[in-house]
Amino acid sequence: MNYCIFCKILNKEVPAEILYEDDKVVAFPDIAQLAPVHVLIIPKEHITSINDLSGVVGEEIVGRLLMVA
Ligand SMILES: [Zn+2]
Repeated sequence: MNYCIFCKILNKEVPAEILYEDDKVVAFPDIAQLAPVHVLIIPKEHITSINDLSGVVGEEIVGRLLMVA
């Protein structure tokens, strides 16, 4: 099973200040702030690569990420 740092944040195993959350995506501050405001917006589904995104589901996720940004 794939289990990355983002999955741990989603599972609340790693604390993060959740700035936004809906059924598909979550946004929180980056742990290593490279700019005064540096927020990560991630899909709730574990996606290893952009190559995993295809079809309507991929479009939905990418569209939601852009709209939340
Ligand atoms: Zn993951």
